[in-house]
Amino acid sequence: MHKVREKIAYLQGIAENLEGDMSPRRQARLMSGILDVLEDMAVSLSDLEEAHQQLEDYVDSLDEDVVELEKEVYDEEDEWIHVECPTCHEDVYFEASILEDDEVVEIVCPSCEEVVFISEGEVAPEEERVEVKNDAI
Ligand SMILES: [Zn+2]
Repeated sequence: MHKVREKIAYLQGIAENLEGDMSPRRQARLMSGILDVLEDMAVSLSDLEEAHQQLEDYVDSLDEDVVELEKEVYDEEDEWIHVECPTCHEDVYFEASILEDDEVVEIVCPSCEEVVFISEGEVAPEEERVEVKNDAI
């Protein structure tokens, strides 16, 4: 756009120095200069539209990534934890989200009614959960 401003300033210079008398040659030079500036502006506008479209596509792809991430986060809440009963070796599954409860949760084996998992009663990070799970076995 800097180049366009220079051209406009040049054309303004021609127009100001006319002093009422405009020869066909000067008219032609002025008109040609104006058309040149219009062409430059059209090219700039086209480049700008293209850049804008690229930015829009990028924002759209970012938005899709956020949706994917949200899905992963919500799926994790529905994650199931597997514990093997130490007494009868029954496979016991329960939702990880119940451990987010403030109260202590006891998971009982449906087969022999042995307690196979006791929650801490607080939200524990993933690694700590695995340790607790291993202790319970
Ligand atoms: Zn059992």
